[in-house]
Amino acid sequence: MDRRHAETLDAADTLASFRDAFDLPPGVIYLDGNSLGPLPRAASARVERAVREEWGQGLITSWNAAGWIEAPQRLGAKIAALSGAKSREVVVADSTSVNLFKLAAGALSLRPGRRTIVIESGNFPTDVYVLEGLCGLAGATLKVVDPDAVLDAVDDDTAVVVLTHVNYKTARRWDMATVTAAVQAKGALMLWDLCHTTGALACDLNGVGADLAVGCGYKYLNGGPGAPAFAFVAERHLSAIRSPLSGWMGHAQPFAFEERYRPSADIRGMLCGTPPILGMTALEAGLDLQLEADPQAIEAKGLSLCRLFIDLVESRCAGHGLTLTGPREMRQRGLHVSFAHPKGYGVVQALIARGVIGDFREPDIARFGFSPLYLSHADVWDAVEILRDVMETRAYAAAEFATRAAVT
Ligand SMILES: *Cc1c(COP(=O)(O)O)cnc(C)c1O
Repeated sequence: MDRRHAETLDAADTLASFRDAFDLPPGVIYLDGNSLGPLPRAASARVERAVREEWGQGLITSWNAAGWIEAPQRLGAKIAALSGAKSREVVVADSTSVNLFKLAAGALSLRPGRRTIVIESGNFPTDVYVLEGLCGLAGATLKVVDPDAVLDAVDDDTAVVVLTHVNYKTARRWDMATVTAAVQAKGALMLWDLCHTTGALACDLNGVGADLAVGCGYKYLNGGPGAPAFAFVAERHLSAIRSPLSGWMGHAQPFAFEERYRPSADIRGMLCGTPPILGMTALEAGLDLQLEADPQAIEAKGLSLCRLFIDLVESRCAGHGLTLTGPREMRQRGLHVSFAHPKGYGVVQALIARGVIGDFREPDIARFGFSPLYLSHADVWDAVEILRDVMETRAYAAAEFATRAAVT
């Protein structure tokens, strides 16, 4: 295989034109859009306008005139369109962690006789941490079980099962339709974490009959650092679900300033406090770009990039101790690829020093994300050639890479 093979694949790429919509630094191959998506060019101008005009000139009138107050639902409708949901089922607010807390507590409120939450081990830590906190507060029980044992662990005390569709480390993908049906057959609710799904894989929340979902704005949706997250509640649950964070934005009429809380019966019931408008503005630029691309094409190209990366690392970097972690079968994976290596941190740092940005996950995982809107197959080829140089020269062993930075 040579670089021309990659160039041939790129010649048939229907998403190639999206690369120009991103402000990527020259000389960088960015393989970390699964952690922080890059800057869409349109976001700079839109944030500047929101700051100078809407905030600077419009002042408080912008809550009405610039549509600020509608932003959580307006952006929610855009995420719904990417996720196979109805526009009234999704709202943008808070962080994924906070939305998980609200929805898992909401699930307990929807299944009052049931007091157990089931989650897989090996999930992204915040998911377990948040549910530990919730269960402590609610007097509920958290069962953390091996992924293979999840369905067997669901019984008539289970209120909700929380799974991340695509695992953050291994990229292993759950079959959403099958798992959702199996959980619901036991009377429990299914809550999906879509952090590594939305913007990366085609997703049909209504098609699989999902009850609840949360997801991230700053990864594949390119919403910027700390972008607000989203929450999905299936329409059939909207009038009954209760958020434990009963802030004024979740009130049926926030500006009636009533003495006591009266929950909104629509998706706004999942809001708590004032929306972060500057963050919402940047995220909306990312969403508008995403909406121009076909989710099926995004998934297909992403998997093609992953397949090429795995093939090239295993052939051109063979014998250097890099071991694929996670599924080889494309239908069973998401859009990042992890290789274990005893000096995984050094490998990632040596690559970053050469302009190939990936990240490291404990204990030994070098992780690379293949976001389809700005990466080409030729980028994959070039990145693997740089990786080959890092492995052959043992650049990863340099003393400067021995200690971990605060963010890995
Ligand atoms: C990235 C990620 C999160 C992030 O949560 P924040 O509250 O935004 O920090 C949560 N869950 C999973 C599975 C993730 O991958």
